[in-house]
Amino acid sequence: MTTEKDIVLKHPKDPAALLDVIRDVQSRFGQVSDEAVGRIAAHLKLSEAEVRGAVTFYHFFSLSPRGASTVYLNDSITSRMAGRTAVAQAFEQEAGCRFGEVSADGTVGLFPTSCIGMNDQEPSAIVDGVVFTALTPDKARAIVRGLRAGTPARDQVASFGDGANQSDLVRAMVVNNIRRRGPVLFGAHESGAGLRKAVSMTPEKVIDEIKRASLLGRGGAGFPTGLKWEFCRREAADRRFVVCNADEGEPGTFKDRVILTELPALLFEGMAIAGYAIGAKTGVLYLRSEYAYLRAHLESVLAGMRRQGLLGKKAAGAAGFDFDIVVKSGAGAYICGEESALLESAEGKRGEPRDRPPFPVQTGYLNQPTTVNNVETLATAARIMAEGAAWFKALGTTQSAGTKLLSVSGDCSRPGVYEIEYGLPIADLLDMAGGAGAKAVQVGGPSGSCVAPAGFGRKIDFSDLATGGSVIVFGPDRDIFEVVSNFMEFFVDESCGWCVPCRAGNVLLKKKFEKVARGLGTASDLRDLEDWGRLVKSTSRCGLGQTSPNPILTTLKSFPELYAAKIRTGEEFVPEFNLEEAVQDGCAAAHREPECKESLDE
Ligand code: SF4
Repeated sequence: MTTEKDIVLKHPKDPAALLDVIRDVQSRFGQVSDEAVGRIAAHLKLSEAEVRGAVTFYHFFSLSPRGASTVYLNDSITSRMAGRTAVAQAFEQEAGCRFGEVSADGTVGLFPTSCIGMNDQEPSAIVDGVVFTALTPDKARAIVRGLRAGTPARDQVASFGDGANQSDLVRAMVVNNIRRRGPVLFGAHESGAGLRKAVSMTPEKVIDEIKRASLLGRGGAGFPTGLKWEFCRREAADRRFVVCNADEGEPGTFKDRVILTELPALLFEGMAIAGYAIGAKTGVLYLRSEYAYLRAHLESVLAGMRRQGLLGKKAAGAAGFDFDIVVKSGAGAYICGEESALLESAEGKRGEPRDRPPFPVQTGYLNQPTTVNNVETLATAARIMAEGAAWFKALGTTQSAGTKLLSVSGDCSRPGVYEIEYGLPIADLLDMAGGAGAKAVQVGGPSGSCVAPAGFGRKIDFSDLATGGSVIVFGPDRDIFEVVSNFMEFFVDESCGWCVPCRAGNVLLKKKFEKVARGLGTASDLRDLEDWGRLVKSTSRCGLGQTSPNPILTTLKSFPELYAAKIRTGEEFVPEFNLEEAVQDGCAAAHREPECKESLDE
C-alpha cells in the first residue's frame, strides 16, 4: 500500500517541488495531514510553517480531510443562474452533508469553488479531477451514488464533448462551443510556419515585427507585447524564461480552455517564438488546476512538436536555438493570474504578488528575466509571424489591432467563444450570441464593467471596453444586486490577505453594499460605497484589490436608479446597530460571552 512517505520520497529534494508533492499527497489521501506536513518539510528542507502556508493558500489543498472523493461545485453567478442551487441541494441530500463538509462515512466531501472555466455549460463541477458539465439534480445524485458504489468519477462520464475533448488523452464531456471562427486564431495555419519564419530573422527583427503589429497583451491589461519582449531581452543574464499564463480565473472566462484544447500547437509555437526573441531556452506553461484534465493532451502535443523538430535542440532547425517547454500546475487561486503571483506559485510557493519594481522582465521566474504572456497573446504572436504585421494591423481598429477571443455566457441562446475584430459594439455581440433584451452585460468579468442598455453601443477594444475575454449577459429578470453580491463574495474569498485595503476593505465594502441591498441604507451609505471603493482601488498592492470594487462602482454608475430605489430617506429612518449580533463571530472565535450583553441588558 502506498504511504505518505512513499509519495514524498519519490519527489526531488527541491523546494520548488513543494506544490507537486502536496498535490500528490492531497490527491491520494484527500488531505495533507500534520504528519505529511512534517515529512514534506523535512524532505524539502523547508519549515513546517512554509508547507502549511502553501497548503492553506490554495483551494484544492487542505489540512483536514476532504473525503475519499471530493466534489467542487462552481459557485459563479452564471452557475447560479443556470440552476446551481437545486444541484447543490441534490448533492447535499444524496451525500448527507452540507457544502463545506465531508459525509459521515467519509466517502464524499462537498466544497464550493469559484469559476472553473465552464461558464458556457453550467452548472459544472470537478469531481476527483474529472469535469462534469450541465449538471442537473438527478445527475448530481447519480454521481454521489456512483462514487459510493465504487464507480470512479472518470467512469461516470457517459459521453464526450467535441474536438480534442473526445481524444483518448482528454475524454472530457466538455464542449468547445466555438461559435465564431475569426481569421487570426482560427485562420488556416501551417504548423511551425511562424516559428520557421522567426528563426530566419534576427531576434531583434522578430521583436520589431511584433511591435509593428501593435500586439497588445490579451489578458486585459493590454501591455505592448513587443516592448515586453524587448525589455526582457535587454536584461543582462545567463538565463531568461518565457512563462505562459494559462490561469484564466476571471469568472466567465473560458476562451483559453478552447485554445488549450484545440490550438495548443499554435500556443507552443508562440512560446518558442517568444523564446527565440528574448533569448530563452525554457518556456513554462502555468496551467490552472481546473484544466488539469488537459495536461496529458498538452504533454502529448509537446512530444509531437519535439519529434517534428519544432522544440528541443536546434528548434526549427536554428543552430544555437535550443528551446523546450515544461508544464507546471496551479492549485486553485485566482490571484495566481497576476503575473508575479503566478511566478511565485510556479516556483512552488504561496501565490502572493511580489513588490514591483523589479518587474518580471527584470527579475522573474527563478529571479531571472522573464516574459509572462497570456495564452491568446502567444498564439496570436505565432499567427503574426506567419502572416506578417501588416496583415494583422489591417484587422480591428487603429488603437486595437487584430481580433479578440471572447467567452460569452449567461442569458443568451448561443454561449461560447467568439473571435471578433476589435471595435465590435456590444449590441452586435448580443445579436450574435442571442442575448436580445439583456438588462446588463458584464464585460471583463467581476473586475471589469457592468454595462446597462444605454451603453450597448460601446465597443470592445482597448480604448473603450478592454477585456481579458469574459462577457456575461444578464437577462431582463436578473437581480443586479445578486450579481454584485456574488462578485464581491468572490473578491473577499480570493484576496490573498497581504495588504489591508484589499483584505479588510473588500469585507467592509461588501457589508455596506449588503446593507444597501437589504433596503437599510441611506444616501450617505452610497457616498461611502464610492469613497471606500476608490480608496481600496488606489491603495491596494496588486490588480486584484485595484479592481475589486468595480462591481459596486460600475453598477452605481450604470444603474443609479436601482440604488436610489433601495435607500431610505426621511427623518423617521433611524439606522440601528445590533452590537450583540455584530460581535458574535469574534466572541465565538475567542470562546467568550459577549461582554456587551451585560451592559446592554443593564
Ligand atoms: Fe493580496 Fe489583495 Fe493586496 Fe493583491 S491587493 S496583494 S490580492 S491583499
